Amino acid sequence: MRKINIAIDGPAGAGKSTIAKSLAKSRNMVYVDTGAMYRAIGLYCSRKGIAGDDETTIVGELDNINVSLAYENGEQVVYLNGENVNGLIRTPEAGAMASAVSVYPVVRSKMVELQQALAEKTSVVMDGRDIGTVVLPNAEVKIYLTASSEVRAKRRYDELVAKGMECDLTQLQKEIEERDYRDMNRETSPLKQAEDAVLLDTSDMNIEEVVAAMQKIIAEKIGD
Ligand code: C5P
Repeated sequence: MRKINIAIDGPAGAGKSTIAKSLAKSRNMVYVDTGAMYRAIGLYCSRKGIAGDDETTIVGELDNINVSLAYENGEQVVYLNGENVNGLIRTPEAGAMASAVSVYPVVRSKMVELQQALAEKTSVVMDGRDIGTVVLPNAEVKIYLTASSEVRAKRRYDELVAKGMECDLTQLQKEIEERDYRDMNRETSPLKQAEDAVLLDTSDMNIEEVVAAMQKIIAEKIGD
């Protein structure tokens, strides 16, 4: 089978991970959630009491932070210095911390290297903020997935409530908008649509419709 890489970028809560997972499964490709890697670094800093804006300390700690991905029972597992942290990185706080630490170029280059090595070896569906623009500029398919901030906040709210977490919808929307702003306006690898990416606004679509639209885009690009 020909090696194919699919890059999916977009703002927080656009549905990237749900869709990317589904595509990877149906096409027998490996799903790489790059946000989880930045979340793991964010978790390391939170545990050490390092503030997100303390660049000197974060950069100084980088050699002590080992993030790796493994695949267990078809699921991506993120290891932080040998510890499975999957269950600890999905909170809004971890997302905010990830967004804070991911502005630093040395943090990014360390993660990008790892991501490129994964995509070199095997066909991947990789999601993040800079996949089509920086990590996999030659990806066969690039999709920029977005939705209004109201819709994205509501989706996150439903997800968290389903997990039994308490949260406030207005506060979630505010946090999402702050994260978007920081991700889109940072100096290094800001979130933006790659010139050759296909834009898909999912505000009025359900998951099945988005997956079908993506499959169509992929089929057109790679001709199957
Ligand atoms: O996608 P997720 O919400 O897990 O990402 C958490 C944060 O990690 C994002 O808000 C963004 O700041 C950062 N990130 C990034 N580049 C990526 C993936 C995530 O900067 N490729």
